[in-house]
Order: sequence, then structure tokens, then C-alpha cells
Amino acid sequence: MFCKNCGNEVSDRAVVCPKCGCATNGNSNTEIDSPSTGFNVLGFFFPLIGLILYLVWKNEYPLRAKGIGKWSLISVIISIVIYVIYFALIGAALGGLAGGYYY
Ligand SMILES: [Zn+2]
Repeated sequence: MFCKNCGNEVSDRAVVCPKCGCATNGNSNTEIDSPSTGFNVLGFFFPLIGLILYLVWKNEYPLRAKGIGKWSLISVIISIVIYVIYFALIGAALGGLAGGYYY
């Protein structure tokens, strides 16, 4: 995260900014902004909802947004892989049939 006072990048666990000494724990978002397993699962099964929540949250709750965004993306990738395998198998089956006619 970044120091609210000087903008210096500080560790998420830092209590005070090492550059200016300003307290960093005044940010109330840090408590509620954490990756949520429930929302990650939601994003996985409903990638469209996950994507929308990612866009809504990415500024306010970056950690949670990153979690749901990541799982939505994984879900989409898995879907694409399954489709590719599915059509590859159909293609192979049709190719085999067509091959029977041609040879
Ligand atoms: Zn600072």
C-alpha cells in the first residue's frame, strides 16, 4: 500500500511510514479489504459477475478485487480449454469419418 501522507510505498504490515513517520493504519479499508474465499468461488462459477465485481471493487478494495478477478479469469481459461478440447475431439471424430470417405 501507499502512505496517505507522502505517497511513499510502504509494507502492508507497516504501522508507520518509514519515510515520513505518518501512521498508516488509519485506513479503515485494510480491515475489510481482504481476499474473500466466498467471492472467489462466486467469481469462479459466475465469471461475468466476478468481472463486474472486480471492476466495481478494483479502486476501493484492490485485494478483494484481485482475488475475484483472478478466479474469474481462471474460470474463463478453464472454460476455453474445455471448449478447445471439446471441438478438437469433434474435429478429430469428423476428420476420422471424412478420412474414411477420402481414402
Ligand atoms: Zn509517508
